[in-house]
Amino acid sequence: MRDPLEALDRVRSMTGAMLVVLRDFHEYWEDPQVARRLRNLVQQLRGTGTALLVIGAGARPPAALADEAVPIELPLPDLDELSGVLAEVCEAPKLRRDLTDEQSERLIQAALGLTSSQARRVFTKAIVHNDVLDERDIALVLEEKREIIRSSGILEFHAAAETADDVGGLNALKAWLRLRQRAFGHEAREYGLPAPKGIALIGIPGTGKSLTAKTIGGLWGQPLLRLDVGALFSSMMGESEQRARDALRLAEAIAPCVLWIDELEKALSHGGNDAGTSMRVFATILHWMQERSAPCFVVATANDVSALPPELMRRGRFDEIFFLDLPSITEREEILAVHLRKRGRDPSAFRVAGLAAAAEGYTGAELEQAIADAMYTSFAERRELATEDISRSLRRQVPLSVSQRERVGELRRWLKDGRAVSASSP
Ligand code: ADP
Repeated sequence: MRDPLEALDRVRSMTGAMLVVLRDFHEYWEDPQVARRLRNLVQQLRGTGTALLVIGAGARPPAALADEAVPIELPLPDLDELSGVLAEVCEAPKLRRDLTDEQSERLIQAALGLTSSQARRVFTKAIVHNDVLDERDIALVLEEKREIIRSSGILEFHAAAETADDVGGLNALKAWLRLRQRAFGHEAREYGLPAPKGIALIGIPGTGKSLTAKTIGGLWGQPLLRLDVGALFSSMMGESEQRARDALRLAEAIAPCVLWIDELEKALSHGGNDAGTSMRVFATILHWMQERSAPCFVVATANDVSALPPELMRRGRFDEIFFLDLPSITEREEILAVHLRKRGRDPSAFRVAGLAAAAEGYTGAELEQAIADAMYTSFAERRELATEDISRSLRRQVPLSVSQRERVGELRRWLKDGRAVSASSP
């Protein structure tokens, strides 16, 4: 039946208790007329024993029906279900399947996080592209999945480009992560180890929180998903809370994975007049962190702790809460060396120790900036970069620890009060 109003009238005229399934009816119910008639129908059906079941992907009851409808969210398909989808697709005539069992499993794993119909489309695409299903299709499926997830606008896949070698200092944090490198496999479970749950990285901007988060996926060989908390609130795309739930559900389906919740404080500081939504989104994330069963390691990063409520910092929520302070002199040396090397320069050709000593109060991001600025100068003057160029650009910059002395001081006091452990070696 094509006409939604007619369909509802038909249901009304039927007698006897029954379950009426309305497939994809969510495509119509945003229309106020349909919503009104649906609401009337639901009220008339009360006590008759008849119930309506609307099935649809991403279907959410319109506001007018919020009190009448009970949303039931189904989890995304697991490995077994996806393997069924693959088997179905493989029944296509002419198809050659050139996969070992292990490769098949990886192919199915690559599709985790997709709905059945998305998976069907992706597998089919992998096949029609050359009439054979083989190892090369694993990368193709992953790439398609990345695209689908990106276009959903909630989560972002991060390709693991950064490694621990790109991070200067922060030795305590790096050691903590390295120690847990093998903590996710069967072997660790059999040994009796619980899977690590998550960490919070807190500190002033530019101290390497995001940088470290980006290295974890690569270090542990897991996909890294970034949840942009600020983007959850873009009014363009549906309800923030629902979007948060969708993102978390997706992350669970893709697990084992690392879920990086970026700028967590934005969930709280957001939207002055809509503090209720912010709190609900925040509560959704907290609740999920408490209840989730999938091995999905959370890395929450935050700049401004004054916004973070104490229940977040309660012991047990995270395995550890690290604070990233202004780098020490040795750390500044390492950071300068990292960025010189990144730009094809040999650190031993520079007086790095002297630069580090002069850069007291500078963050990693500011040290990097000083090197970049210095290179613009030396390049414009058609000569090689020299130590003096870097020290000049350091002198020209006013670091955050000076321009926002109050705020930075407050944060450092808060952190040093025993609420978090230092990410640097003592
Ligand atoms: P945060 O997330 O703490 O605000 P970022 O990690 O985004 O800071 O830092 C911005 C950039 O500054 C990084 O991409 C990196 O190039 C540089 N940087 C910051 N801290 C470090 C560090 N400890 N070692 C090397 N580079 C750093």
